[in-house]
Amino acid sequence: MTTEPTAIHVEVLPARLGDCLIVECPRLAGPTWRMLVDGGPPDTWPLLEARLRRLDPADRHIDVAVITHIDNDHIGGMLAFLSSDLAADVGDFWFNGRTHLSASAPGRARSIEQGESLVTALLGPPSGNPGAKPPGRALPWNAAFGGGPVETAAPGAPGATGATGATGGVISVTVPDGPTITVLSPTTGGLARLADSWSSSLHDALQPRDRGLAPPADVLGPLDDLPHLAGERTPSDSSVPNGSSIALLLERRGASIVLGADAYGNVLAAGLHGVARARGLQNLTVDAVKLPHHGSQANVVAALLAAAPASHYLVSTNGDVFHHPDDAAMARVVLDAPAGPTLRFNYRTPRTERWADPRLVAQHGYHVTFPDPAHADAGIVLDLPARR
Ligand SMILES: [Zn+2]
Repeated sequence: MTTEPTAIHVEVLPARLGDCLIVECPRLAGPTWRMLVDGGPPDTWPLLEARLRRLDPADRHIDVAVITHIDNDHIGGMLAFLSSDLAADVGDFWFNGRTHLSASAPGRARSIEQGESLVTALLGPPSGNPGAKPPGRALPWNAAFGGGPVETAAPGAPGATGATGATGGVISVTVPDGPTITVLSPTTGGLARLADSWSSSLHDALQPRDRGLAPPADVLGPLDDLPHLAGERTPSDSSVPNGSSIALLLERRGASIVLGADAYGNVLAAGLHGVARARGLQNLTVDAVKLPHHGSQANVVAALLAAAPASHYLVSTNGDVFHHPDDAAMARVVLDAPAGPTLRFNYRTPRTERWADPRLVAQHGYHVTFPDPAHADAGIVLDLPARR
């Protein structure tokens, strides 16, 4: 029996309430294509650093490092990463800074200017921030997008230049012998909304979210009526930084994963429908979805689940502060996903463990996985085989 080679390998590290993902496309010949998505909160850095230093020094290159949006549980570990020698091994950073948010003056390019620095964009000038250690050279920043924003294309927008191409309202980057990456979020509007609150949002993002008051205890409700839970009318996510999240569709050799960041569910759904439409499809069947916003009911909406039916749903949270994932979100996944989806949690917690109740699993015909207790530091590890 031959086993199909892995097309996409994904790890969802245990980053408490945050996100820290490593995505790899192994190549038969040549170096592994590798992407880092967010760094979790600041205390994820030792784990991330140890993971990266375990890589073969001859194959440690990170092709793309994505900072999805300015939120402490996504950028905290990234700031430490940026100050480390490992940042020099990154081919391109994808991050939307203040310069990308809106064209305030007509005709002003929303692009990085000569000498503009990613580290300065995040931490301010070195003089105002003695802790910020600028790297020896300017880090590559949104190079795949010509220095412009990472965002979805407006329908009918002219094709982008370089390695990117626009089709049917979406922008894709194709890596030779690697993945095709399509931007699902943010929209231009989602970025523009951040313009007014950039400074305060960035200031908030540099403060740990869970300092100070202990959150109220988590109250676990019954899971005996999933249709009722799934049908709950829940408010949509209105966080402006979340709405600026870079969310991506990665495809390689027939395998596919949606990296949902903390993006709005309806924006992801619209992006996925755009991709499907361009291919003459009703929706886009994918292998895996990293659920947006840690399985929040405000983001995991029916429209998203219908737009990209998947076999694997990845949930990244230990429930700190926000008590994610929400039961309504998981109920929607269990009921709306095609037969037999697998819920993959990167933490076994009292909240997530309930979804492995054998009666519930048997009744609704799905599967649940948790990290191997012997390797809990690995989080979720998933290999998606090539289909062609
Ligand atoms: Zn988050």
